[in-house]
Amino acid sequence: MNYSLNPDREDLTLLQATIEKFCENEIAPHYEVWEENGIFPRDLWNKLGAAGLLCIDIPEKYGGHEADAEMALTIPCGITYANFGSVAVGLSVHSDIVAHYILNKGTEDQKLHFLPKMVTGELVGAIAMTEPGAGSDLQGIQTRAKKNKDGWVISGAKTFITNGQHADFVITAAKTNPDVKGSSGVSLFLVNTSVDGFSRGRNLEKLGLHSSDTSELFFDEVLVPHSAVLGEVDQGFITLMTELPRERLALALNAVAAMDFMMGITKEYVSERKAFGQQIAEFQNTRFKMAKLQTQLRLNRALMKECLELFAEGKLDAATASMAKFSASEAQCHMADECLQLFGGYGYMKEYPISRAYADARIQKIYGGTSEIMLELVARDLFS
Ligand SMILES: Cc1cc2nc3c(=O)[nH]c(=O)nc-3n(C[C@H](O)[C@H](O)[C@H](O)COP(=O)(O)OP(=O)(O)OC[C@H]3O[C@@H](n4cnc5c(N)ncnc54)[C@H](O)[C@@H]3O)c2cc1C
Repeated sequence: MNYSLNPDREDLTLLQATIEKFCENEIAPHYEVWEENGIFPRDLWNKLGAAGLLCIDIPEKYGGHEADAEMALTIPCGITYANFGSVAVGLSVHSDIVAHYILNKGTEDQKLHFLPKMVTGELVGAIAMTEPGAGSDLQGIQTRAKKNKDGWVISGAKTFITNGQHADFVITAAKTNPDVKGSSGVSLFLVNTSVDGFSRGRNLEKLGLHSSDTSELFFDEVLVPHSAVLGEVDQGFITLMTELPRERLALALNAVAAMDFMMGITKEYVSERKAFGQQIAEFQNTRFKMAKLQTQLRLNRALMKECLELFAEGKLDAATASMAKFSASEAQCHMADECLQLFGGYGYMKEYPISRAYADARIQKIYGGTSEIMLELVARDLFS
């Protein structure tokens, strides 16, 4: 079983070997303790950077390796395939989302300041859209930024922010023009987390992804300079919309890598475990279930391959990316449930990796846009 969508690409195979080695040496020996602690250590970011596993598709000019998107997206997938979902999600936010907002919308100064340090892990990035009162409905955000002669003063609160505890800076969405309704009037700011008025709330306790730090963030009249605006003032939603296909593709690919992992361990388990004098794998129920799951996996792999090709050509539209995210995350959660069932009581035990894969899967249908919002976007396109 291999999670790569292009097993013939030699560079991807080599990268997979690097990821596997990194996971074995730097993550596996400590992961359970990190999960208990609810956070992995800050220096893992520097180790990821030193191993060349951060932001690899950033141009060399900004410290990156100029790899293609498929190579870059392989990294969180490889970490998920090793069942270290907490590291994969943090890395994906940093490398696949935050770095690309800066690359695509940042000024030359912003790119030169942030990107090389993101590649090494010296700076960790987060993105803060969600608020206690606004998740799916981002148009309802209450965080405000008011302009004065020195810059912008940001006030408000965010929640559920991945990398929130470790982040050195946070791309923060705030209303800059509260008079306009709808999607206009929101801007994005690069907020340094060491400035006065910024504070982190709790590292939130979650159902799964225990060692991924997820936080509340507070902005109490945080003054940022004019140069902290990312992209154009009042056009934050447009930036968000342009970056969403990549974000959703990353989540979908991750789901497929998790499915590959679950199929592998479940196939092995049902082939060994016996009941009523025969292997679990010999019951027709098991065989049919596994056959259906394998079909689902294959279908999703085919869709992801198409999406990767479209993305490489700059043609992955919002509706197709939403289909991919919806399809793969729903299939991942279904598979997690079916596979855990085939492990019986052992599947519910923490020491069996399927239990972690099950708990980590559930969020996939929620973050990066819920399944319902994905369907809404697909339907809008269908009826437009
Ligand atoms: C572990 C984790 C990490 C996260 N990381 C980040 C991060 O790094 N940055 C960030 O900004 N956010 C992050 N989020 C937030 C995440 O993106 C939101 O939780 C998600 O968008 C849903 O918003 P909500 O929780 O407010 O749910 P709500 O929007 O309140 O939705 C509740 C329910 O109503 C449904 N619903 C809402 N609107 C509609 C509609 N129009 N039609 C049909 N159904 C609808 C939803 O689908 C859902 O089932 C994270 C969340 C978690 C749990």
